Amino acid sequence: MNFEGRQEKLRENIARNRLDGLLVTHLPNVRYLCGFTGSAAALLITRSKSQFFTDGRYTEQASEEVQGARLVIARKAPLPAAAEWLTKNAKKLRLKILGVEGEHLTVAERQRFAKNLPSGLRLRDASPMIERERMVKDEDEIEKIRAAVLLGASLFDVALKTIRPGVKEVEVAAEMEYAARCAGAEAMSFETIIAAGPRSALPHGRASDAPIPASGFVVCDFGVILAGYCSDMTRTVHVGQPSAEVRRIYQAVKDAQEAAVAAVKPESPVGKVDDVARKLLHNNGLGKCFTHSTGHGVGLEIHEPPRIAVKQKERLQPGMVITIEPGVYISGEGGVRIEDMVLVTEDGCEVLTPTSKELIII
Ligand code: ZN
Ligand code: ZN
Repeated sequence: MNFEGRQEKLRENIARNRLDGLLVTHLPNVRYLCGFTGSAAALLITRSKSQFFTDGRYTEQASEEVQGARLVIARKAPLPAAAEWLTKNAKKLRLKILGVEGEHLTVAERQRFAKNLPSGLRLRDASPMIERERMVKDEDEIEKIRAAVLLGASLFDVALKTIRPGVKEVEVAAEMEYAARCAGAEAMSFETIIAAGPRSALPHGRASDAPIPASGFVVCDFGVILAGYCSDMTRTVHVGQPSAEVRRIYQAVKDAQEAAVAAVKPESPVGKVDDVARKLLHNNGLGKCFTHSTGHGVGLEIHEPPRIAVKQKERLQPGMVITIEPGVYISGEGGVRIEDMVLVTEDGCEVLTPTSKELIII
């Protein structure tokens, strides 16, 4: 990972935003910039310095992992430690405006931090500069994401072996999660969704202790974290013989998903990709049943920019990794969602998820 290069890019952004520095406290951003994977950290990037703060629990881990920054192992939490260091070095640094990640600080944290700063140093909410850089993945990141996607996809086979009428949703999730850990996943990237029968109409129906009914859809939405990077995919299977209407609904979602994937290419506004999926479902009389956005960026976090949603103007760029996941939800009956991870390439896109989208009947 080119941590120094990322920090240099951030320095350019800091200058462009007329800040004298940025205090990075959002842990995925800290990891992106210096490699630290622990749970307590702050990284101060000024125009000339990178200073990393953590506490005594991470002495060894920080010296092993952190690259491109000087370490401060403090007896206090990273934020007060950063405030103390700024006060001690105020004369040398001569900082006037320090950016903070307002989206990721609590009001109390920010107030406490501000109170302990040297006089003459003001805080300003910085724009999400690091998140913007993180949207476009480098080769190294894409390789890690590919590995996470493949491991994630292998869990679908476990789901297919486990899903039977009478088996509880949580039992399916548990088998998948056990297989994920055995295969080396650090964690699931979110709570596994196994939603069967009428529960499949809940877009975020996390696995419950409800048994899988004799007939109906089962939405399986799951992902793993591997080497820090997330995977995310959804497949919907049907238990029992589907009616013609059920097949029609599945086909409409599959068509919408494939049409949206086909619309993924550099320079395309993300809102247009969303529009393609939405129009197709609308034309099938299912527009009102598609109640969420078409997708999101994936990387160190399971949900990161860009949002593939109505009226979003962000333009796709080669190296972005996004999901395409339209769905249809009919309250009291059931739902279908199909989700792939997609890499934007120079001339279009590559679907990373290797799994078939044909309707599987169990
Ligand atoms: Zn998902
Ligand atoms: Zn997703």
